[in-house]
Amino acid sequence: MNLKSLSDQALLAATAKLAHEERELLIAVLAHLREIERRRLFCDLGFSSLHAYAVKHLKYSDDQAARRINAMRLIKDLPDVAEKVQSGKLSLSNASSAQTFSKRTAMSPEKKRELVKKLEDKSTREAEREMAAISPQAVRKDSVRSVSEKTVEIRFSAPRELEAKLSHLRGILAHKFPHLTLAELVEKLADLGLSEWNPAKTVRPIKTRAGLLHSTEGASNQEATEGASTRKVAAETAAQTGTISNSTRREVWRRDRGECVNCGSQHAVEVDHCLPRSHGGAGTIENLRLLCRKCNQRAAIKILGLKKMEQHLQAQHQRTCSK
Ligand SMILES: [Zn+2]
Repeated sequence: MNLKSLSDQALLAATAKLAHEERELLIAVLAHLREIERRRLFCDLGFSSLHAYAVKHLKYSDDQAARRINAMRLIKDLPDVAEKVQSGKLSLSNASSAQTFSKRTAMSPEKKRELVKKLEDKSTREAEREMAAISPQAVRKDSVRSVSEKTVEIRFSAPRELEAKLSHLRGILAHKFPHLTLAELVEKLADLGLSEWNPAKTVRPIKTRAGLLHSTEGASNQEATEGASTRKVAAETAAQTGTISNSTRREVWRRDRGECVNCGSQHAVEVDHCLPRSHGGAGTIENLRLLCRKCNQRAAIKILGLKKMEQHLQAQHQRTCSK
């Protein structure tokens, strides 16, 4: 195609046609992404999320992937937005921002619809101003920027209460650490959280048929020996019924290093039965593995089917919302 030979009018018309076709293609891409997410199909390729799949497999940049996924989720909630994106009334960028902003501010579907209306035919900057007028805090994004090989800059907006809590904590620690920086304080909190909430270390009461047992870490030798043998019996009893004893759970977390064995994600990781309990799967270390929630859902879709799994997820979602 030699564009130089086109008349001015033909060039403008051809460009407008291409832009229209590009938006049509965009809507088709969003619909395909939605179906891939519904099936959790990215897990089969070893990706921890739709975003990771879009970046590493489809070769979108981080921002391009995020904009498409956000717009897809907006259209999932408000299907008529697809027509607005396709006609160019709502830009992809504004559709994405509307979704992010509405999530951060927990907007109702009606409020979300109003917001989309406000962002129609607006530039990105105008759209940001509209949203800042509703909630300046929700417009600001969390960010992590690389400063040097060993240092990053982390920025986020937080309620004033957090500043007061950090200041209070710094005061409490001032005897031991008089010159604690904010980064050092947050690192101490992160270390504390990782040791307190790490399932590979956490000691929780064990529920068995024989009653409630407690782990004996820190107890006397005799108590510890008795505790160890009782724990062994409890673990064996639990394993036969498919339930998982605390010691087995910790062992699985340690063996799989706290990561999903399918995609390597550390996000929302849970212990899963390779052969499901419903199929007679035991709660033994050999039959257990760590999977992230998405990979776990994909595994369930493969066994139970998409329809049954969607009903289950829907019921789970309603239970969570009614709490
Ligand atoms: Zn995974």
